[in-house]
Amino acid sequence: MSSHRSAIEDVYAQVLARNPGEAEFHQAVHEVFDSLDRVLEKHPGYVQASILERICEPERQIIFRVPWVDDAGRVQINRGFRVQYNSALGPYKGGLRFHPTVTLGTVKFLGFEQIFKNALTGMPIGGGKGGSDFDPKGRSDAEVMRFCQSFMTELSRHVGEYRDVPAGDIGVGGREIGYLFGQYKRMTNQYESGVLTGKGLTWGGSLVRTEATGYGAVFFTEHMLATKGRSFDGARVLVSGSGNVATYAIEKVHALGGIVVGASDSAGAVHDPDGIDLDLLRDIKERRRERISVYADERGDRAKFMPGASVWDIESDDPIQVALPCATQNEISEAQAAKLVAGGLIALAEGANMPTTPGAIRVLREAGVLFGPGKAANAGGVATSALEMQQNASRDSWSFEHTEARLAEIMAGIHERTATTADEYGAPGDYVVGANIAGFIRVADAMLALGVI
Ligand code: GLU
Repeated sequence: MSSHRSAIEDVYAQVLARNPGEAEFHQAVHEVFDSLDRVLEKHPGYVQASILERICEPERQIIFRVPWVDDAGRVQINRGFRVQYNSALGPYKGGLRFHPTVTLGTVKFLGFEQIFKNALTGMPIGGGKGGSDFDPKGRSDAEVMRFCQSFMTELSRHVGEYRDVPAGDIGVGGREIGYLFGQYKRMTNQYESGVLTGKGLTWGGSLVRTEATGYGAVFFTEHMLATKGRSFDGARVLVSGSGNVATYAIEKVHALGGIVVGASDSAGAVHDPDGIDLDLLRDIKERRRERISVYADERGDRAKFMPGASVWDIESDDPIQVALPCATQNEISEAQAAKLVAGGLIALAEGANMPTTPGAIRVLREAGVLFGPGKAANAGGVATSALEMQQNASRDSWSFEHTEARLAEIMAGIHERTATTADEYGAPGDYVVGANIAGFIRVADAMLALGVI
């Protein structure tokens, strides 16, 4: 074993010992560390300055009680988190996730990924993440509002335009950002637009922010496909999820001539061999906030609902060329990846954060499938958040066309940086290695420059 490998393994052993039981966080660290041997060989200064140890330890971790009153008058208690992971490149930046499974370990895995993702965008944003084990599902608007107001009452002490700028993630969309921003504005008596991103268009939001993660993932995939002389035109595609990321990924795939034949939510998947009717899906999920099974009922024809199943279980007669997991972490198993490979998969890009299990990534790599890791493929969301911050800072608002063109440019830049770095470090075509190394070096160099802090 090289001395660099053993240095990496020592730090990894410390991470396991110091953060017991946080399996997703361990997985996220492992994936980055796996790419770093060659970096430490070229830059021994990172080892001397203990950059690996430092980068794994969040600068600050905040855990707080969130008390609120439900519609029946009962007091409910949730737990709130904000992990301010790394601010070497700019204010902490990253979303808030509201989901019953959220623990400190979840927020740390997401925050750790966010550091490198944000670095890859080339923009001046550090990494952070937050959330709560609150479940918005089945809650009334008034309950969601009271929860958000209580959550922000504590969070307000820790955020700010130059300090920490949260946004949405699973369970946090325009409605939640509205209630959070309203409470912050009320508490501070200031219209500080730059404190949150993902705001509504009439109160400081940016055009394209809602679409950005899904569009960006499709732009990134287009670049990957082009390296093999392929495109979305005529391609059959599976997209998991039916939230914000999935919706706009589907829209862009269709605009580029592909056909999305599957989508899902936590209750099951729909297989629609004729192509997902996006207007119907959006009406059901966004406006009516109903389950995806309703889609199959109302769509008729050949659309089929598969209760409890995942999109990755769909049996398709036609080959599926592209997979875009846009639901949640560890949603694709090794066996499901093998099935996708056998079904003719050419490319997979992660719209969600860490949706592909390590075993599944191994299968895809061995089969030579183009694999776009979330840090690169879904960075369009946070990059457009940074564009929202720019517009807020200059009291300006840009057109849809201009903002989408900036997003497309940013995604092309990320693809280029990732591919070039992979080449430079002896792993051509390996976007995991390219993204991890390019993101890591940008943060590590800034940390070295800023001294031991
Ligand atoms: N939650 C998104 C992500 O995973 C967006 C974060 C942001 O816009 O700050 O990158």
